[in-house]
Amino acid sequence: MRGLKAIFGLLAAAAALAGPAQAAPWTVKREQAAAEARFLASDALQGRGSATRDEAIAAAYVAAQFEGFGLTPAPGQAGFFQTAKVIKPRLQGEAKVRIDGVDVAGAQLLIGPMGDVGGKAVVFAADDVMTMPAAEVVISTSKASPLTVGQTAMSKQVKLLILKESFLTKGLYAAQGGTDMASYLEGTPQGVRTAVATLPAEAFERLAAHPGASVDLKLPPMTRETAITTNAIGYLKGRDPKAGTLVVSAHLDHLGVRPNGTIMHGANDDASGMVAVIELARAFTAGKPPKRSILFIGYGSEEIGKYGSTWFAAHPSVPLAEIVAAIEFEMVGQQDPKLPKGALFVTGSERSTLMGALKAHGAPVAPDSDPAQHYFERSDNWPLAQAGVVAHTLAGWTTTPTYHQASDTFESLDLTFLTGAIQSMVSPLRWLADSDFRPAWIAGGRPPP
Ligand SMILES: [Zn+2]
Repeated sequence: MRGLKAIFGLLAAAAALAGPAQAAPWTVKREQAAAEARFLASDALQGRGSATRDEAIAAAYVAAQFEGFGLTPAPGQAGFFQTAKVIKPRLQGEAKVRIDGVDVAGAQLLIGPMGDVGGKAVVFAADDVMTMPAAEVVISTSKASPLTVGQTAMSKQVKLLILKESFLTKGLYAAQGGTDMASYLEGTPQGVRTAVATLPAEAFERLAAHPGASVDLKLPPMTRETAITTNAIGYLKGRDPKAGTLVVSAHLDHLGVRPNGTIMHGANDDASGMVAVIELARAFTAGKPPKRSILFIGYGSEEIGKYGSTWFAAHPSVPLAEIVAAIEFEMVGQQDPKLPKGALFVTGSERSTLMGALKAHGAPVAPDSDPAQHYFERSDNWPLAQAGVVAHTLAGWTTTPTYHQASDTFESLDLTFLTGAIQSMVSPLRWLADSDFRPAWIAGGRPPP
């Protein structure tokens, strides 16, 4: 029989263990993260093409995890899924580019418009893309990257952007089969869609030397296929209904299968982010509920236009005014060697007080290293940000060599970094979920609606 003193000692120790609310430290398990990434990036899921059955299977998998952890459907939703219709037009032939009414041989359409477009050509040659004129048709000879030029043309509502054919554009054309038109989300305003076409070098130089020519794009007949995109949404009800709700998200989809049969596995983009959301849901459901509610979301159709997040922002599970902050995890399976070890960068970090607050509570976050790339506008945080919610994306490395390449496979993931990145956000997010702190836009940081 043990002495009374020892028994009292044990009781005191037990009371200390059960006692006031120091939340137990949580450990993100590498083998769990690996298993989830391996499944999402598997051949079986065929690259999780946007608004495909494969995306729906990824959504079902994520929802099953959420349900297993004890998350519930979001308020006002019958289940764990939110779906929307995506219309995918397909060209039944080649698009033609005409200069002063004459067809240009070898023109290739990279991104299609909603219909025929045309106008007087304006040549844009500057390196600073922000000086691009908001003309109907822009011929770009700028040395800026085609991606940046394209983004800018879109933001300037240029209707037709003409680029010189290059190795890069030919690869893109081949990858898309030349028939892939701009898809759109049914029931949302479509705005202006910038069509992008290339001309062979000789025709391009001739046109660039004769600004003011009339250029138009003529589309062949097309079919319209209706597809369904799926968001998986799980809800953790907080202790205080007035404290607001956090959104923790990633995107389910990637690029699917190329016309030549190559599976685009998208392990980093964005199976890694989805793993972060699943593992954070696991962590947050393990202890007592936080003060704030949390919506854990896997969005569909990010890759073809952020349709899942656009739909969610238009049909939110809780009123937008109740969403305190939204954090998207994108490409957290590899780290930019230029960042401090273990750090994640915050897109649009200078726009709000969120990064500073997370950093003050232990998050190894770093400022947006390349604002000129407009990453803030290029992920699922954007539709919510446009709707006024403080919404950012956390990323490990966006210009990784595997970005939108077939090499973005499970084997290319840095599981140590991925596991560490998720782990590093558990306690800062727990702080945010338990606090009264409300992140706000810094003057001029809120995007125009
Ligand atoms: Zn992505």
